[in-house]
This record gives sequence, C-alpha cells and structure tokens, in this order.
Amino acid sequence: MLRESLVVPMHIHFTVFLIFSFAISLAPTEALFAQSKKREMTIKIEVNDRTYIGKPLVWDGENMQLLRRDGRMTFLPVKSHEDYKVLSSDFSVMSRKLMVAKLKKEFGKRYTVSTTSSFLVVHPHGEYHKWAKPFEDLNNRFSAFFSSRGHKLEKPRFPMVAVVLNTRSEFDRMLKGYYQANPNMLGYYSPRSNRIITYDQTKNDEDSIFDTNTVIHEATHQTAFNRGVHNRFGDYSSWLVEGLACLFEAKGIHNSYIHTQRKDRINSSRLLAIQYEIKQGKAKGTLEKIIRDDDLFRSDDQLAYAYAWGLTFYLSETKPREYLRYLTNDAKRKDFTAYGAGERLELFAKAFGSDFDNLESRMFNFLMKQKVTLPKGYTLK
Ligand SMILES: [Zn+2]
Repeated sequence: MLRESLVVPMHIHFTVFLIFSFAISLAPTEALFAQSKKREMTIKIEVNDRTYIGKPLVWDGENMQLLRRDGRMTFLPVKSHEDYKVLSSDFSVMSRKLMVAKLKKEFGKRYTVSTTSSFLVVHPHGEYHKWAKPFEDLNNRFSAFFSSRGHKLEKPRFPMVAVVLNTRSEFDRMLKGYYQANPNMLGYYSPRSNRIITYDQTKNDEDSIFDTNTVIHEATHQTAFNRGVHNRFGDYSSWLVEGLACLFEAKGIHNSYIHTQRKDRINSSRLLAIQYEIKQGKAKGTLEKIIRDDDLFRSDDQLAYAYAWGLTFYLSETKPREYLRYLTNDAKRKDFTAYGAGERLELFAKAFGSDFDNLESRMFNFLMKQKVTLPKGYTLK
C-alpha cells in the first residue's frame, strides 16, 4: 500500500475547527460549510480550467481535501470562500454506470470493465470469472472473517476500483512521477485514489489473479479501508494495517470456508521471516518501537512486515476479542488528526496491557512453536 500522507499539515485539525466555528456567525454559505462536518454537501472548485465536484473533507484556509463523487480524494488550492461554489446541501455517490463509462474512457479499447456488487474491475480482455469474481469473493470472505468473530462490517460507500494492467511496463509508467519505481512492487492500493493498481502476472488462462499474494494483500487493504475496519480519512499505525493484510495472505484466512485449521491460517513465508529475526536476536525490543511510530517500516522493512504479521497473528489467535475491539477503536479516531506516539502507546496498553516486554516474550514463544507448512517438493536449505 502506498503510505500517503493526507498532505494536511499536523496542525490542520485546530485550524479547521477555527474556520468552521468562525463560519457559523457568517453568511449562509459559510454557515452551510460549518455544518458540513456533520452534514453532507457538494461544492464545485475550478482550478486551471478543470472542474472538481465533491464534498469538502478538511480545509485550512489554503488547501482543501475534496472527496470526489467517485470516491477519490483530491487536494486543491482553496484560499477563500470565493474559490468554491456550493452546489447542494447533499452529497451523492456517482452512479456505477457513469463510473464505468469514465473508466472505459480512461483505459481505452485494450481493457474491459467488469462490475461485481462491490467492485469495478478494469482488466485485460477475458472472463469475468478470472478477473473480477476473485475480488468479490475476497470481499465476501473478508466480511465472513469478521462476522464469524461477531463484527458486522459497513457496506462500502463507493464502488471499489481495481485496475489490472496488461503489462509490467504499463504499471511502471503509471507509477512514475507518483511513486518511486520499485521492481519488487507488484501492485499497490492508494487510499487517496481508493484504487488498486496491479498488472497481469498470470502465466496462463487457468491461473487466478489471486495466485500472487500481492493482489490479496492490496485487496485486503482496499476492502478494510472501505468497510470501516480502518479509517481512510485518518492516520493509522502501519503495523496494524500491514499486519492485517499479511494475515489475509494465508489461505486459512482469505479462504476459511475450505481451510479451517490453525496451520492454514499461518502465513508460512512471514512465519519463517519472523522466526529468523527472533533467532538472530533482531526482533527483541521491537514491540514498543512498532507501536510508537512507523519508522521501522522505513529503516528495516523485512523486520517490520514480519513483526507486523507475527503480532497480528498472535493477537488474532490468542486474544481475538481484544484484537477486534482495538481495530474498531482505532478506526473510530477523528478524521485528519495526528496520531502521535503517546496516543498510540496508550491505546495499545489499554487493549493489551502495558507490560510490553512480557507480551513480546509470550508472542515470541507462541510464534516459535508454530510450524511452517512448505509447499510440496519444497525443502528448506
Ligand atoms: Zn501493505
């Protein structure tokens, strides 16, 4: 997933409250705007001959984060009330028909746009079953995972867009100028565009788009951010978001109808990685660090992902209720507010206790006991 800052400076929430509360005593337009934090509204902004229509999410008097009718977020310069026009005191999501037409125009004749109940999938010409259905299946299994643990998920507000490009070079081109091209990156989900972008990695017609963990991982991010498991408009802890996506890579999680045992819920490559880090002595003392901030994902992403999976697997297997409550509380944090080290540590301690060393050593014991199931014919050197 792309770790996008929402481009809003850290102090934004104070500024926004100021603007919104000032506005109440001003003209009707501003008063309407003041209410928009609770109520819906649609405004129009023109920038460089382009028209943007959407709902204002946050504004600091210089720039505005606009939620477009297709679910994208766009950051636009808005300096005064003259820079936008209120179109309605409502906000409605763009029709699926119009979104499909726009995607067809954007991706052209070399692509098909298939629709499922929750997704619009842009893909190479071919079967719905191969390209679009797997996304909907994952979405259903994702809600089954939560409902079997007593938690009903929200319906996605916008159709979720997944784009499967024909070739790697098209993928690289799309990434250019937006994110540093990285040969190891096989796909991504962007909270800002709310889209998954990947490319065809299947070798023949029988292969599934979900044969690679990448697409399952990114589709988990997208589904989680669209169904209320994470908050797309809020800051988040990377370990929580990445840990959940890594958890879903295992067949016993993303397909628990067929694979029902704990060993199926183990993500073997992540387990191998964390066991290696524990044995090397590199993982010790990481718990507090990974809760406090996301620095480890920049300084040692191997350890960060392995640890995020290990912690998530341990909590979801041994403390499922506490884990779920923690996830839910995390998603309820206020939109566009900073999520500092103090608050992160406090929320975690409230859910799982403040003795981090003890929790970490119990987690390591649990993880070291788990067995890796290797695919047939595969041996460890
Ligand atoms: Zn990820």
